[in-house]
Amino acid sequence: MDYNNNATIDLHIHSTASDGTFSPAEILALAQDLNLAAIAITDHDTVNGSKEALGIGVPPSLKFLTGVEISAAPPPSFPYSGSFHILGYSIKIDDPLLNKTLATLQEARKNRNPEIIGRLNSMSVAVSMDELLNEVGDGQLGRPHIARLMVKKGYVESIKEAFDKYLGKGKPAYVDKYRIDCSSAIEVILGAGGVPVIAHPYLLNPENIEDIEELVITLKAMGLKGIEVYYPEHSPHVISKLADMANRHELLMTGGTDFHGSLKPKIKMGSGKGDFFVPYILYEKLIESI
Ligand code: AMP
Ligand code: FE
Ligand code: FE
Ligand code: ZN
Repeated sequence: MDYNNNATIDLHIHSTASDGTFSPAEILALAQDLNLAAIAITDHDTVNGSKEALGIGVPPSLKFLTGVEISAAPPPSFPYSGSFHILGYSIKIDDPLLNKTLATLQEARKNRNPEIIGRLNSMSVAVSMDELLNEVGDGQLGRPHIARLMVKKGYVESIKEAFDKYLGKGKPAYVDKYRIDCSSAIEVILGAGGVPVIAHPYLLNPENIEDIEELVITLKAMGLKGIEVYYPEHSPHVISKLADMANRHELLMTGGTDFHGSLKPKIKMGSGKGDFFVPYILYEKLIESI
């Protein structure tokens, strides 16, 4: 492929190793069909998606970064309510400390799911752990799988309704997740030779996107290397403010769709809701920094 100015990438993709519905093999095939120049598989709290892709073999026409998306606890002074996730790129997937840390997070999820199911049962939503395990196979379970089961059994019409009525933060079946603190998440990614990046800043729910600058400064002091500037939910205004912020603080810019297959049916790999794209140059800059 000729990596001209029009080449595009997608550095935020979930596989069946977490809550995506495409296997790593299907992701590699789709990325090729879509002519993407580079991708990263960034599963929640596991590197198994990346590991499987590498095992299958990445086609020579596609550049591939290993990845992970860690659910972290924000700094103590953090004033927002939204999802705080740290992406790690180009990590060594066999790094012992990284794997030990991810194992702890996976264990915590295993304890959390039955609690969520218990809460649903007490609200007369009859879903069981056995049904849930049947749904998923060996991937890592999370709320999206529970939401899909609720749709299947007719308790809600959509995954969104399941989150809005039951599973979302502050809703009756919500159970908080154990998180490692952000400094440890950043440290463990750096320790595995990776590049830590703050995911989808707009989903933190700041009043104004400018308000996250303090957070970015705090995280940079911990070793943060980049900001996920391009994201389907980011308006052109948000993108331009985040790009300015990245430049001011000498941070890398990354971007991706957060593709989850049918668990986020409106989001397509590479193009988000349609006209979204991430320029290839961001991949080159990321690689140069390693
Ligand atoms: P969990 O890992 O179990 O905490 O679930 C987090 C995942 O649920 C996120 O990565 C999203 O994929 C999905 N999610 C979170 N909030 C919503 C929402 N309101 N609607 C649909 N999916 C959501
Ligand atoms: Fe997810
Ligand atoms: Fe995320
Ligand atoms: Zn994600």
